[in-house]
Amino acid sequence: MRVSVLPATSVDKAYTYGVPDGETPPAPGTYVQIPLGPRKILGCVWDDPADDVPEGKLKDITQIFSAIPPLPEAQRRFIERVADYTVNERGEVLKMSLSAPKALTAKRVNKKLKAPCSSPDPDRTGPQLSEDQDRAAHFLRDAVARGDYSCTLIDGVTGAGKTEVYFEAVAEALRHGKQVLILLPEIALSNAFLGRFGERFGCAPGLWHSALTEAQRKTTWKAVASGDTRVIIGARSALFLPYADLGLIIVDEEHDNAFKQEDGVRYHARDMAVLRGAMAKHAVILVSATPSLETLHNVRARKYESVHLPDRFGGARLPDVELINMKATPPERGSFIAPPLKEAMAATLAIGEQCLLFLNRRGYAPLTLCRACGHRIECPHCSAWMVEHKSSRRLVCHHCGTSGRMPEACPKCHTKDSLVPIGPGVERIAEEVKEIFPQARTLVLASDTAGDDGAALYQALEAIRNHAVDVIIGTQIIAKGHHFPKLTLVGVVDADLGLTGGDLRASERTWQLLHQVAGRAGREQAPGKVLLQTFMPENRVMQSLTVHDRDAFVAVELEERAQARMPPFARLATIIVSGTDPAKAEKTARALAQMAPHAAGLQILGPAQAAIYKLRNHYRWRLLLAADKQFPMQDYIRDWLSNAKPPSTIRIGVDVDPYSFL
Ligand SMILES: [Zn+2]
Ligand SMILES: [Zn+2]
Repeated sequence: MRVSVLPATSVDKAYTYGVPDGETPPAPGTYVQIPLGPRKILGCVWDDPADDVPEGKLKDITQIFSAIPPLPEAQRRFIERVADYTVNERGEVLKMSLSAPKALTAKRVNKKLKAPCSSPDPDRTGPQLSEDQDRAAHFLRDAVARGDYSCTLIDGVTGAGKTEVYFEAVAEALRHGKQVLILLPEIALSNAFLGRFGERFGCAPGLWHSALTEAQRKTTWKAVASGDTRVIIGARSALFLPYADLGLIIVDEEHDNAFKQEDGVRYHARDMAVLRGAMAKHAVILVSATPSLETLHNVRARKYESVHLPDRFGGARLPDVELINMKATPPERGSFIAPPLKEAMAATLAIGEQCLLFLNRRGYAPLTLCRACGHRIECPHCSAWMVEHKSSRRLVCHHCGTSGRMPEACPKCHTKDSLVPIGPGVERIAEEVKEIFPQARTLVLASDTAGDDGAALYQALEAIRNHAVDVIIGTQIIAKGHHFPKLTLVGVVDADLGLTGGDLRASERTWQLLHQVAGRAGREQAPGKVLLQTFMPENRVMQSLTVHDRDAFVAVELEERAQARMPPFARLATIIVSGTDPAKAEKTARALAQMAPHAAGLQILGPAQAAIYKLRNHYRWRLLLAADKQFPMQDYIRDWLSNAKPPSTIRIGVDVDPYSFL
């Protein structure tokens, strides 16, 4: 007996193996251990026909994990489509699916599988829904009950009660005996969210995120495979868990870039979730207060349905958004908070309410400069500046994590005390707040101060909720869905920050982020106020924020994308050539461009040095492919790269539908 096995490593081909004497031939989907070259690795019995490898050369499967439920067919086909779409090997995608690498050790397989929680109860009484929510929930329940593919956008302002609405879709899927996946950007996976889930369903969901221990991963992975876990809430990689019977995927904050994986298999979890729904015929729900242009375009083209939640649940009002023109009313020298923002903060603190200052930049200063010789401190491994973190007295590279003590003298000219910080990070803003309002209790909230396990973040959020702080200075970690009743003023220190860099989604992202931050202000009775410090008050991003006119912004942005033949009206892909030898990397990139087959409707730009040319000691070159929507991008790239023979030290990565242009 022989079967074909897809190894969980970077190969596309399923290899043929013999089944040891006395063993029942394993069915497709069964996990096995196989010899591959000198190694023994995990694999999965695949549906490809077995080859007629001569008996003498045929190797046997070394272990069959028959106690673990096989990978279901729907998930096997999904793995193949993801590999196809992202131009990766099937085995590489299978490897992501086996992301609990030690889940399959021999000693453990016979242990009884244990679910992380009891069954969620779909029929527990949930919160009272408003008329709008009820209508939306009804629509979604119907979509789930049909048991066929559909994709629906829940489009509603921050605080409109979108979560309560999609919980009703979750309940419907549970009533039909289906598993449910709720995808969230990792940063939004808060205890508050889990609390709401618990209230509605009477038990905790399964969780999947990067901070899980190996033991937790193993338990969850198995409980998903056995079907014991009915609802999983997780970050993007949860898409690749071995669901026994998945019947609904919800992508909350669907516009968030955290759904795009930027290394290895470069995929967008939202797009792959929709793909899975279409393949396996189940409902997909996308959720956002600031939907991506791609999604809005699909709604307009009637590819997606949409339900709209117009009002803030409970009747709270949207905050007033005003611009502070930094040219007309600049901050004092060496300061970053302009007088109008300072005054508004004073007024807010005087009546016992909270302020949030938002700046999407960790640390104290993004650049450290020597006053004596002009030297700028750069990361030794990346083309990026080292960022000063004053609280830990270190310089940190935000790209590779390299850090070192803050030097006392310039590393180049050795002048003492000559290093000066240029520009603000959240720590520097906090310092300024303490100078202006010495009585105010401040809190800096950024991913590095929040810690890894979420406990510190939870404490910080509790402190804000309990009014143990007056001024919060935060990065985008604070921008998501948190609810602070006393927070009535939001000041955005540098609203223009995201607009520089020339990325095609710069305006869209800035609009989304600022809109989300603005949503933090005044979520209960007190109306909130948002002040945006900008050097570009005429910019349409800023203008549309002040009048809460998303439709106008989206219309103009889509028109510009159409004119420029950019997504969602065209297709993009990037090829990234990288290696530790700069000359070889460049040579490979140029050779690749030379051998690109001509194709109508396709334009190839580059190779050019990547914006971050050196990253973790790898020199990077990029080629950008732009084509018509109908162009068979993946086939073209596969065909092209199949002829490439790069040196072994050079890596060629493919990014279909790129989001990062660094
Ligand atoms: Zn110097
Ligand atoms: Zn670095």
